[in-house]
Amino acid sequence: MTARRVLVVEDEPHTREVVEAYLERQGLWVTAVGDGSQALDAFAHHRFDIVVLDLNLPGLPGEEVCRRIRDVSDVPIIMLTAKGAEEERVAGLDLGADDYLVKPFSPRELVARVRALLRRAHVGEEPQRARVAYGPLEIDLSAHRVFCDGEEIELTASEYRLLTVLSRFPGRVYTRMELVEKVLGYDFEGYERAIDSHVKNLRAKLGDDPREPRFIHTVFGVGYRFDPGDDTAEGAGHDAGTT
Ligand code: CA
Repeated sequence: MTARRVLVVEDEPHTREVVEAYLERQGLWVTAVGDGSQALDAFAHHRFDIVVLDLNLPGLPGEEVCRRIRDVSDVPIIMLTAKGAEEERVAGLDLGADDYLVKPFSPRELVARVRALLRRAHVGEEPQRARVAYGPLEIDLSAHRVFCDGEEIELTASEYRLLTVLSRFPGRVYTRMELVEKVLGYDFEGYERAIDSHVKNLRAKLGDDPREPRFIHTVFGVGYRFDPGDDTAEGAGHDAGTT
């Protein structure tokens, strides 16, 4: 039996160490990081069974980390919030966090919540391999791995998000602005070019020729759509097995 993996995101070193020590004592495998970008990076490269997320982080806010994780995964998330920060808490729960603890909290209470969520997440279900295939392109949504023509493709977190967002509904057109929101998490203008670069890099990695695309089509003046062609789609979107 493999140990359950926990991602702990907390910028305050003492709290981080205490949380890490308590969870490790439970036989959990802990990865502890100090900010949101490290968290997303860890999340893009490893599979976690639960995330403990401080909302008040330097740089990328905890809410944003929560939203980006939730966009690609239904992993249980426990937020750590400041006393009195109701708005934060509501925002976090709106974004799909499962539970929260108000600081200062007892590490034992945290351990109890983590165990409860792990139990809830695994009641009556085997962890499913959510794998979707579009012709030569395969996406392993639980392991965050992508294969094209039988070769594993190394994608950045943004490229992976872009690919999963676009391929979730093949044939659907996404505007650049929508992709900025869904992939980068910003809701203001000016980042459309960043999406263009991510698309360019993703195409290069997938060996996709923009003039004769196998996967990602440019919709002129609008944005992009993922369309692997009528005869190659084996999965009708990602919904099977991921909910
Ligand atoms: Ca903090």
